[in-house]
Amino acid sequence: MPAWLEYVPAIALVVLGYAALCAVSPVGTCRKCRGWGAAVSVSRFSGRLRRGRECRRCNGHGRAFRVGRRVYHRLARLHGDAHR
Ligand SMILES: [Zn+2]
Repeated sequence: MPAWLEYVPAIALVVLGYAALCAVSPVGTCRKCRGWGAAVSVSRFSGRLRRGRECRRCNGHGRAFRVGRRVYHRLARLHGDAHR
């Protein structure tokens, strides 16, 4: 029996846990803008936070689908294409 087989249950557990997380809360905080919805920079003049350009990843919502959910969407689309 190859040694990597011993890790399969642990990996399966992690994948299942991640899948469950994606199912419970498919939308997470956008990693690109950390939930701001835009690029944030500190103004050099006033020292205040300034909203920059709207985040392209989440379209300014500050929330983005988790990677796992995107994989699910892709699989669902493939499934739909295959069964038309
Ligand atoms: Zn964003």
